[in-house]
Amino acid sequence: MFEKKSDKKTAVVTGGAGFLGSHLSDRLLAEGFRVIAIDNLITGNTDNIEHLAGNPDFKFIRHNVSEYIFVPGPVDYVFHFASPASPIDYLEHPIPTLKVGALGTHNTLGLAKDKGATFLLASTSECYGDPLEHPQSEDYWGHVNPIGPRGVYDEAKRFAEAMTMAYHRFHGMDTKIVRIFNTYGPRMRLRDGRVVPAFISQALNNEPLTVFGDGSQTRSFCYVSDLIDGIVRLALSDFHEPVNIGNPGEMTILDFAQKILALTGSTAQIVFKPLPVDDPRVRQPDISRAKRLLGWQPKVDFESGVRETIGYFKQKLGV
Ligand code: UDP
Repeated sequence: MFEKKSDKKTAVVTGGAGFLGSHLSDRLLAEGFRVIAIDNLITGNTDNIEHLAGNPDFKFIRHNVSEYIFVPGPVDYVFHFASPASPIDYLEHPIPTLKVGALGTHNTLGLAKDKGATFLLASTSECYGDPLEHPQSEDYWGHVNPIGPRGVYDEAKRFAEAMTMAYHRFHGMDTKIVRIFNTYGPRMRLRDGRVVPAFISQALNNEPLTVFGDGSQTRSFCYVSDLIDGIVRLALSDFHEPVNIGNPGEMTILDFAQKILALTGSTAQIVFKPLPVDDPRVRQPDISRAKRLLGWQPKVDFESGVRETIGYFKQKLGV
């Protein structure tokens, strides 16, 4: 696949044309890896990796990883990031979401096993569901509705974690699991339905900000470069159980809407819409495990991260 022999390590990144997969690919290339990005583009977009075209260390394969994956040559790391990841995406693609968490995880684990590669699963704070413990530590087993609209994502990721631990325990594979909390930054899709792109694009277009419910539910937002840094540290660690990576800075969604209005300088109104079914009431990562094991904690403050993201959306919207 790569023409010349080299001592560079090779990483496969599934979902490599997505928001997180493309940032991870950039970081791995900067660290001296060769990267093979695989994506079927149902929610990913080649715009996110356009700047890598022509890079001799980067290859893109358009493929659905829920089908058998063929990658020639040596592979040192497999990062499984492919999945619809926003509530409206997994409502629109419920079966592909279940399949990529289940069959896609099986196939990517099989690829890693065949190549003797380290495997890292992108899991999620959704494993905790609508949590009854707050903040959420990795020891909390969660409170998930398996048959609700979010179940297709939550249960697929819980299955993916179980499958990953089984490959670690049964096959002795080197595996890692990151539980990713709400993350934001450039390359999020304008209309992916998540609250960060929704509020920023509404504010920039001077349209009302759509707060769901009364806006008292909370989230904790992590800037993408911090998240990627935690993931790379985890990949290089020798820890196999799940690790939360996220920013513990928690706020209500109403508060978040007001902050977006202030940072964009927008005079848009706030309107209230019905709360989606099973929308978690609270969410905040307990990151003591990441601090202790990886020496990691987020560095980018909310205002700087949001300003960067606003700059990206302004460019996209041409405003
Ligand atoms: N939300 C909102 N307005 C929007 C989009 C989302 O109030 O236009 C709320 C949503 O109900 C949830 C929070 O913002 O409480 C975060 O939603 P998101 O879809 O970003 O991710 P989640 O954390 O729910 O997976």
